[in-house]
Amino acid sequence: MQSADDLRRLLHRIDGRGYKAYRDIRGAWAFAGLTLYVDHVQGDPFAAPSKLRLRVPRESAQLPDELHGNAVRRLALEDFLVRQAARAAQHDGETRRGSGRSGIVSVDAGGQQVIERSAGVVRREWVELRLQAGLPAAGRRVLGREAESLLCRELPRLAERALRWENLPQSEARAFVECIENQERLRALLPEHGLVAFVGDCSILPRESGASDRPLSAREAVPFVSPPSLRVQLPLANPIETHEGRRDHLVGMGIRRGVTLVVGGGYHGKSTLLRALERAVHPHVPGDGREWVVSDRGLVKIRAEDGRRVEQVDISAFIADLPRGRSTRAFSSDDASGSTSQAANIVEAVEAGARGLLLDEDTSATNFMVRDARMQALVHEQDEPITPFLERVRELYERFGVSTVLVMGGCGDYFEVADSVVAMREFRPQEVTEEARRIAARSPSGRRVERRVPFERVTERIPLARSFDASRGRREVKIDARGLDTLVFGSETIDLRCVEQLMEPSQTRAVGHAIQLAATRFMDGKTPLRQVVDRLEQCFDAEGLDALDPFHRGGHHPGNFARPRGLEVAAAINRLRTLRMRQRRTGDDR
Ligand code: ADP
Ligand code: MG
Repeated sequence: MQSADDLRRLLHRIDGRGYKAYRDIRGAWAFAGLTLYVDHVQGDPFAAPSKLRLRVPRESAQLPDELHGNAVRRLALEDFLVRQAARAAQHDGETRRGSGRSGIVSVDAGGQQVIERSAGVVRREWVELRLQAGLPAAGRRVLGREAESLLCRELPRLAERALRWENLPQSEARAFVECIENQERLRALLPEHGLVAFVGDCSILPRESGASDRPLSAREAVPFVSPPSLRVQLPLANPIETHEGRRDHLVGMGIRRGVTLVVGGGYHGKSTLLRALERAVHPHVPGDGREWVVSDRGLVKIRAEDGRRVEQVDISAFIADLPRGRSTRAFSSDDASGSTSQAANIVEAVEAGARGLLLDEDTSATNFMVRDARMQALVHEQDEPITPFLERVRELYERFGVSTVLVMGGCGDYFEVADSVVAMREFRPQEVTEEARRIAARSPSGRRVERRVPFERVTERIPLARSFDASRGRREVKIDARGLDTLVFGSETIDLRCVEQLMEPSQTRAVGHAIQLAATRFMDGKTPLRQVVDRLEQCFDAEGLDALDPFHRGGHHPGNFARPRGLEVAAAINRLRTLRMRQRRTGDDR
């Protein structure tokens, strides 16, 4: 390995030369207590930034073993270090030098959720930070001196500050790791308590604004208080300090398996509660206000999404006999309606392995949700292809084990099918299950049950690898995230606006590469989608996110991936407009 002095000399030598001369700095450079890896050098100052790694050996990092002794703790510590580094890099980055992205250093840290990511890696023998940097240029010429200051002074200082225990805020680091471990322990406890979610007392659910995931100020927010009848107490992995002293358990509202209805007047906090559950499939950073909100990892937000593409989905349980005799057992559409898209979203979620559905009246198609007695009288059953969700929600639970949490302030027909009814009143939940039952008994809805055929199975589909072409023009693979909601996949773009549980663009990017990996490795014309995403998850568990980068061996390290759930990968696959699927027939071999 070459030394830091070699790098300095090299940078002096190429000072003032064309930008391509930077190619010579590729490789590994040994500094005191640090190795700098230059994995990829950008082609010009305006191109995507260069990719670097800073690796500090165990002896000089001195990270306490107990902070990365298990997988959850390691993930939390990695996340913490990346956040420290991002903060330090941002601070240094105020002074840019030169053209294009000259001198900009970026570290891909997460938002309010803590999600496995590729920017930080803690191993027994070393700790590594992956970052993007713009190599300094004047016009298209190398700025050697500035590059020296960036690579030989600033980055080593960044490693010092973010990767060495003696320079880190140690009690903050411990608290962070313990907080994440607590959340994952709570999540692990949900099944044995018969719960799909837990909302701890004192949680702050509302956010600063519709455009921000940060908490509403303590002055304005009403803290969560669980209703006594739904209160559960769960033990913590690590005791926490509260203003009432040290505690080794949490108290909060348990949301049970089955069908839970959330009712209440407009503006009383229903959607805010549901949104917290959607995002609580991942742990939250300390201070977020939702640290003690945890959901089963298999909960999927369902909504109407008119205009989406649908490929070979059996939506006949919800929608049958379309006009002109169109079959819905293998329904395809380039432009699904509100109700058919919502039906497809549910069937696809169950197919991909969802254990629960989250629905909000605000984003549901009304005709998909209900059809009341008067409408039944006016529009004959024979003329209505839709079997509303109301008729299927219990079957989903009883046959498929799929629970539902439904926000519905506008229709009492759901009283009959709910196991629990929670009323939000001025942001406080109350249990009103008994009352709702009494009301349902006293004033029947008058509607007839219209379930025509039982909802017996979800037909599995086999994705065909030829539907996935990541190439564009001369590039063999062109995959990128355009923000959170748009995924570029070859010459296609996938619209992910309605896949509401994607949390950050780094997940979107990872989804794109995961599709490519799945298409090239797991789609053999026989394997159903469910198994494809299960294999992806296994692959991430075993190899981490590094498995995703097709160039990995070429040195383009994946420093900006965050792990999506298999459910989100499936959701993106389902929305690809070139997708082709084959339904699996019973008797097909796997
Ligand atoms: P709903 O779905 O019942 O109509 P929302 O959940 O949309 O109501 O909430 C309405 C407004 O109240 C939102 O602006 C939200 O941020 C705010 N809000 C929700 N929960 C709280 C709370 N616990 N404390 C203060 N404001 C809240
Ligand atoms: Mg609402």
